Amino acid sequence: MPTTVDRFWQLRLESCRKALASNRFEAFVAQDLHSARRLFSETIRPQLDVRSASRGDSMTLLATGILDDLRQDAGVSFIETFDRGASRETVMARRREALLVDLFLTGSNAVTEAGQLVNLDMVGNRTGGITFGPRHVVIVVGRNKIVPDLARAMERVKHYAAPLNAIRHEGWQTPCRKTGRCIDCNSPHRICNTWPIAEKSYPPGRIKVIPVNADLGL
Ligand code: SF4
Repeated sequence: MPTTVDRFWQLRLESCRKALASNRFEAFVAQDLHSARRLFSETIRPQLDVRSASRGDSMTLLATGILDDLRQDAGVSFIETFDRGASRETVMARRREALLVDLFLTGSNAVTEAGQLVNLDMVGNRTGGITFGPRHVVIVVGRNKIVPDLARAMERVKHYAAPLNAIRHEGWQTPCRKTGRCIDCNSPHRICNTWPIAEKSYPPGRIKVIPVNADLGL
């Protein structure tokens, strides 16, 4: 039984879907993580000729189980770009290969009500894959990432998601790890290096977005 909050978000997510569609993204609303997984396997995946796939970092995407399905698909070569057992050199080589796959999956740090995707990356492999290279991109995003406009998107990403991401990753010595606040640092471990904004999808439908009616990721 959907709660009042869920019904509120159903309305907001439908507006978000329409805004994304008007920007030539293909957009689908999912009511929960399980529906997002099913939507991908039953509606999106059959449309695409996918022989290779990879991903950018996204807690939301991991939670859906979509990656598990792709890894078990015998017809798909999945490039692992977050292999803790591999050397840094190997991981970076795979991240470059991942920019040429048929299907790239990830999340988004924010989505505006006007249907723009806003992201901030340390390395740029995630934002690079969204921007150009992979034939198809699928982005899964929780309702908590929807913000009114670009200014609020950048505020959210820089002053909330980025410090949380710095805290999430062990070993990085950024000021925000100690205080939870961004001071626009010049640390060699700075995770805030590149800011692509996807205002529209080109070619139309290349980027598919699944907003989910749940609070997900950071
Ligand atoms: S700019 Fe530096 S202090 Fe600010 S969130 Fe990024 S890593 Fe943290």
